[in-house]
Formats: sequence, C-alpha cells, structure tokens
Amino acid sequence: MTEQQVIVIGAGISGLAAAYYVKKQQPRANVILLEASERIGGKVKTVRRDGFLIECGPDGYMARKPTLTELIKELDLEDKLVRSNTGTSYIYVRNRLRKMPKGSFMGIPTKMMPMVTTDLISPFGKLRAAMDLFIPRVYKDKDISLEEFFSRRLGSELVTNMIEPLLSGIYNGKLSDMSLEATLPQFVSVEKKYRSLILGMKQIQPPKQAGASKKNQGRFLTLSCGLDVLTEKLASFVDDIRLNVSVTHVEPGKVALDNGAVIEGEAILLATSPKQLGPLLDFREAWDLARDKRTTTATVAMAFEKGSVEAMDGTGYVISRKEGLDITACSWMDRKWPHTAPEGCSLIRTYVGKAEDDGIVQEEDDTIVSKALASLRKIGKVGNPLFSVVTRQIDNMPQYTVNHNQRVQAFEKALDRIPGIYACGAILHGVGLPDCVDGAKKVAEQIATYLKGKQKAMITK
Ligand SMILES: Cc1cc2nc3c(=O)[nH]c(=O)nc-3n(C[C@H](O)[C@H](O)[C@H](O)COP(=O)(O)OP(=O)(O)OC[C@H]3O[C@@H](n4cnc5c(N)ncnc54)[C@H](O)[C@@H]3O)c2cc1C
Repeated sequence: MTEQQVIVIGAGISGLAAAYYVKKQQPRANVILLEASERIGGKVKTVRRDGFLIECGPDGYMARKPTLTELIKELDLEDKLVRSNTGTSYIYVRNRLRKMPKGSFMGIPTKMMPMVTTDLISPFGKLRAAMDLFIPRVYKDKDISLEEFFSRRLGSELVTNMIEPLLSGIYNGKLSDMSLEATLPQFVSVEKKYRSLILGMKQIQPPKQAGASKKNQGRFLTLSCGLDVLTEKLASFVDDIRLNVSVTHVEPGKVALDNGAVIEGEAILLATSPKQLGPLLDFREAWDLARDKRTTTATVAMAFEKGSVEAMDGTGYVISRKEGLDITACSWMDRKWPHTAPEGCSLIRTYVGKAEDDGIVQEEDDTIVSKALASLRKIGKVGNPLFSVVTRQIDNMPQYTVNHNQRVQAFEKALDRIPGIYACGAILHGVGLPDCVDGAKKVAEQIATYLKGKQKAMITK
C-alpha cells in the first residue's frame, strides 16, 4: 500500500499536536511539517539563562481543561507538571496597588463583605454593581461586546476598575471590540441560567480541585522543565520537519512554497498564524477571519537579585488603562512558579502593547526595557535587572471580535466543501494552549477518517 502524505503548515502547539495525533491514529502516514520561522514552537518559547527559566510566551495553562494534561501524560512528562502558587491579586488604580476583593472571579464579585469594604470602587459604583441582582437578562441570543455586557449588568465603574484591567491583561484586546460569545461563553450560560452574574458566579465557583487543597495552590499548570520540552517532544513524532519554508498557496492535493517548490499531500492542515488564512486559501470566509483584529504586544522578562525588587504576597498585578503607564501587567514569576529563578534571585515579567496603542513594541529592546522599568518604579521598589529578554508578537495575537463564532462557522462550512484541506489553531476556537490542543486533536481525527476513506477507496478500485 502506498504511503499517504499529510502536510501540516505551522509548527506552533496546534500544528505540532495535530501532527502527533495524526501519527498516533495513522502511524503509516508520512507527516511533513512546514514552518516559516527558524524554530518550532510558535508562541511557545523558553529561554534558559544563568539558572533562570524564562517562558517568553505562555507560561502555563488552565488546569481544569483536561486535553493538554492528558497529552502531557501520554508523552511521559507527567512528573514535570507543577501547579502555580497563588495569593492576593492586585490592581494598580489611582496611583497605588489595591487588593482585588476576595471572592471575585474575573472581576465579578461573589462575596458581600470584601465588596463593601474595597476601595477599588466608589459607594455609587458598588450600588450600581449590586443592581445586577435585579436587572433582566442582557444577552438576547445575539453577540455583543464584553464592554456592553458587563457595563449593562454591573456598571461602568466596576468594568473600568476591575473587569477591564483583568480581561485586557489576559486577552490583550479592547473590551468594546471583544465578543462575549467567543471570548467568555461561560458568562452567557451563567446569565441564561441564573440571570444575575453575581448570584450565578457564586453558585458555580469551582470546588477546590483535586491536588489543589494546599493553601496558595493556583489554577494553572506548567512543566518545570520548560514548555518547549513539550513542543520538542511532539516534534520528535513528526517524520519530516522543514524550517524556514513559508507556504504561499494551498489547494487540494498540494501546497506551494516561497522557494518555488510544490509539495503534494493527501491531506493538508493549516495551523498558521491568523493573518495567513486569507492569502493561503483565498476564499471570502477565510479572508473574513484573516482580516479580524489582531494585536501587537511584547513581554519583557527581567532577572533580578532578590533584594532589589519588592514583591507582595501574590503573583503580580494588572494595571488600569486609565493610569497611562507603558506596562499593562506584571507577574512576579518566581512567586507564581518557584522553579523559574535560582536561589536568591527574582524573575519579573511585564507586558507592553495595548490594543489602542502598540507603538512601544516597535522600539529597540533597550528602550522597551527602560520604559518598562520606569513604569515598575512608579509602582514599587525595583532595582537594576541582571539581564532582560524582550519577545515581540507583531500583529500576531488573534482577537475574537463581535460575531467571531459566526465567522468561524462560515469559514468551517466553506472549508468542508474543499476535500482534504483542514484548519486548526488559536484563531478558531480558543487561544489557550488546551484549546489549541483540543482543536488539534479533533482535526487529526477528521484527517485520519479522511485518509482511511481514501485508503478504502483505493483498495476497492
Ligand atoms: C505572551 C503570551 C502569553 C500567553 N500566555 C498564555 C498562557 O499562559 N496560557 C495559555 O494557555 N495560552 C497563553 N497564550 C496563548 C497561546 O500561547 C497561543 O494561543 C498558542 O500558543 C497559539 O498556538 P498556535 O499553534 O495556534 O499558533 P502559533 O504559536 O502562532 O503558531 C503558528 C505557526 O505558524 C507558522 N506560520 C505562519 N504562517 C506560515 C506559513 N505561511 N508557512 C509556514 N508556517 C507558517 C508561524 O511561524 C508559527 O510558528 C499566550 C500567548 C502569548 C503570545
């Protein structure tokens, strides 16, 4: 029987996981992975220097989403899994770090007393937020922005001082653009079931997870050896990885490369960056997705001697956009993940680049570092770093804007009509690492079924 060839485009976590799952289901298939850059991993990038372990992209993942943990176990990396530490969360508002009220989830209050006593919100703001208990449902089976949803339910002050800094820190977008249905579908379900977000979130607060009973254990997991060990391990299952080759065109049965070569394959999977879908596939629904908003950001990791930074009892803070600082958030990485800094040292990671102003990301590394330090020094005591690592994502962070799910549905329907071409990745059904692995697993199953169907057809011919 002739060997079937599968071409995967893009060696981020999505492409690598999909290649792995295809090989698992169809061991005889020849899987070729094509990557435009000089390295595998995409946004997953780990730097090791002077005893520090620096994650330049994702530093962990939500433990409650199981697919990635299952994959890690399959790859015999379970003994490297560690859970994050946690502690008080802070928000920098009105020139100082203020504690996030206990019991709030993504900025939604669920406990009465911490909300009454917090100085994050004015008495009027608190009364307005409490109106959530009485007002009717806001979501009417039609997508709206996160800003509209949360402001109408809880009032604009709570949104500005608590929800917006947290969510923009996580998703790096503007709340007024971001889709409720695609970004936070759980809040749609909560409102549908309980009407009030405050009451609903109170009901569904996750019970303490197994293994998370110890005080200070957080909701995230990572690999203590570095997340690039996961991507390297996945890569070891791929038959043929070609770096520095950019795919320029895709059609059933073949892909064209920027060096003029054409490669043939029974199945082709796009696991590329968001903006590539349009040019590679060149149909309307692919362009619609590719034209959706993306943001430009950078992380600035800084290594310090322990005494030269002041850290509090949590793992970092987010910053209200109103403060006008260059950084949007700061993680005390060695607090969150003790394995990331050697004894007597601290590791800080800050984030720069906002949806409304990403000019700083285009600056030289030294300028970005000094601007980040200037912001940090407005907030707390910070000395001079031993070294720093700047990592940019230029026009590469997908934003799920209003009606994203409808655009994805239309895209997938159109793609279904093209035999042998598939897509997965952070642009479609979630940007978190577990979402990417979920998508990769599902698409690999479709590819395996397609290959089996073709094999059967060959045999019966
Ligand atoms: C700073 C940062 C922090 C994050 N933190 C977290 C976190 O803590 N937890 C979490 O779960 N998620 C986090 N994320 C999100 C998560 O890392 C990403 O959503 C995920 O890694 C995306 O993977 P992907 O494979 O879909 O895309 P990518 O990693 O973007 O990979 C796409 C690949 O396709 C290649 N490519 C593009 N075009 C072509 C072409 N024409 N030909 C060939 N190759 C091409 C690119 O070079 C790239 O390698 C973070 C992301 C960033 C940037």
